[in-house]
Amino acid sequence: MRVLGIEGTAWCASAALYDAETDSVLIESDPYEPDSGGIHPREAAEHMSEAIPAVVDRVLTAAEEEHGPDAVDAVAFSRGPGLGPCLRIVGTAARSLAGTLGVPLVGVNHMVAHLEIGRHRSGFDNPVCLNASGANAHLLGYHDGRYRVLGETMDAGVGNAIDKFTRHVGWSHPGGPKVEAAAAEFAAAAGDGEGGGRIADAALLDLPYVVKGMDFSFSGISSAANDAADDGVPVGGICFSLQEHVFAMLTEVSERALSLTGADELVLGGGVAQNDRLREMLATMCEARGADFHAPEPRFLRDNAGMIAVLGAKMAAAGDTVAIPESAVDPNFRPDQVPVTWRDGESV
Ligand code: ATP
Repeated sequence: MRVLGIEGTAWCASAALYDAETDSVLIESDPYEPDSGGIHPREAAEHMSEAIPAVVDRVLTAAEEEHGPDAVDAVAFSRGPGLGPCLRIVGTAARSLAGTLGVPLVGVNHMVAHLEIGRHRSGFDNPVCLNASGANAHLLGYHDGRYRVLGETMDAGVGNAIDKFTRHVGWSHPGGPKVEAAAAEFAAAAGDGEGGGRIADAALLDLPYVVKGMDFSFSGISSAANDAADDGVPVGGICFSLQEHVFAMLTEVSERALSLTGADELVLGGGVAQNDRLREMLATMCEARGADFHAPEPRFLRDNAGMIAVLGAKMAAAGDTVAIPESAVDPNFRPDQVPVTWRDGESV
């Protein structure tokens, strides 16, 4: 089966072709980069309307050159969560394409796709999943036919919390990679040759660390980081401390979820998962408790249509397609709303 996936929940206009027979994924993406500030929904939607047809055309042309006119067996699209104006453009494109090609339509939950790509690439059987993305942060475990939310942010998504600080200090979007670079530079200067977090505790600012059970909060830490910058604390040190606190929270709740479920596999997904320090902390925790850890390669971590096409193929194979009149998008689509049709009889 070959599935054409379309993604465009916020900033990344992306199309992909997944060939299940060869397990190969072709991804074409065109990111929206705001001139200033964060993501503006109207500008992002304008970007989608220009970029989605172009990325779809590139993927479809490549697919038809290689496989002929019947190259695509189904069209999958991100149904939510995401920005409504962007989702509606993606939904319209996917419906027209499925209708024109005469193939079934598959509506994919973007957050479930972020975690399923990790399960797919790792070959793990039944992992706990940490989604560390821009607008979200969830811990998920599979039980009784659904991905259950074991823990989640009580306010901002993890990437958005970091980006809030970088906007405050005047850095362009996205802020996460810049925080990672500044933190590594600070750590190296403070004596950690590897750029990680093993420098003296004295270098850490005292920032809010808020974990309640398996839920967590980032709003206080963003504000405290902004205040520290206003007080003249060097930005590199704030970036270092921000990362250490935020990623320690995510590591603590991930360990608690592994302990609670008895799972011995952890997969990481989402754009913030591109951060070396987060991956290092999670890998260290998993190693200490004898669990396996996997984070897919970066092209499958940030928003991308590859993960939509891969999950779309699993759903289509299970007959989980959607009729066009029922295919409305949902900006608040939660992962635990999705009946998991493509996994049979498994449970954490
Ligand atoms: P969601 O998937 O929840 O809709 P999103 O649409 O914002 O989120 P993602 O691609 O998952 O998209 O994540 C983007 C976020 O990842 C941004 O907030 C960005 O700052 C952050 N990010 C990217 N690279 C890094 C990095 N190296 N370190 C930390 N954060 C990063």
